[in-house]
Amino acid sequence: MGLQHDFKEARRKIARLDGQERDRLLTICQAIQQAQAALSHQATPILARCMTRCQGLCCRNIRVADIVTVWDLVYILTLAPELEPTLAACLAREDFFPADCLFLQNGVGPCLFPEHIRPERCVISFCRVEPTVEKEIGQVMRGFSRLIRFFSFRSYRRLMRYFIP
Ligand code: SF4
Ligand code: SF4
Repeated sequence: MGLQHDFKEARRKIARLDGQERDRLLTICQAIQQAQAALSHQATPILARCMTRCQGLCCRNIRVADIVTVWDLVYILTLAPELEPTLAACLAREDFFPADCLFLQNGVGPCLFPEHIRPERCVISFCRVEPTVEKEIGQVMRGFSRLIRFFSFRSYRRLMRYFIP
């Protein structure tokens, strides 16, 4: 199953939420966005190296489904729903074989996702251990774990709301 399947699943997950759950999801995603902003601020010198030394090698020759997950798509679609048609058009070109990332603008870059609204792996992975950003990476990871827990316990919370309004 490729990322097109995850894209449909992400849309379904969001569409099933009621108003109260959407507000909660938005709060969770905004916290991830803040954590991503703090990470990229702290990682400024590292990211400069990515651009000058290898011009974003990590975005090339990849299988996008190995990097981007359904949770990343939920995150992106929650904060930037206007990107839905663009994502759909990119994913229509999804292939089984490794290639440059589908989400590079005009096939060359930069990444078409707005700053701080990027897939988790794209922002927390570096080609070597980077102790100066460990704390910020942890914060982004905790944000995505919270997002996953939000969906995992959704039915349970709905049940609780039914019995204890
Ligand atoms: S993480 Fe390393 S390999 Fe990837 S773009 Fe940055 S410097 Fe290049
Ligand atoms: S989603 Fe963006 S940052 Fe991530 S691999 Fe693709 S182009 Fe690079």
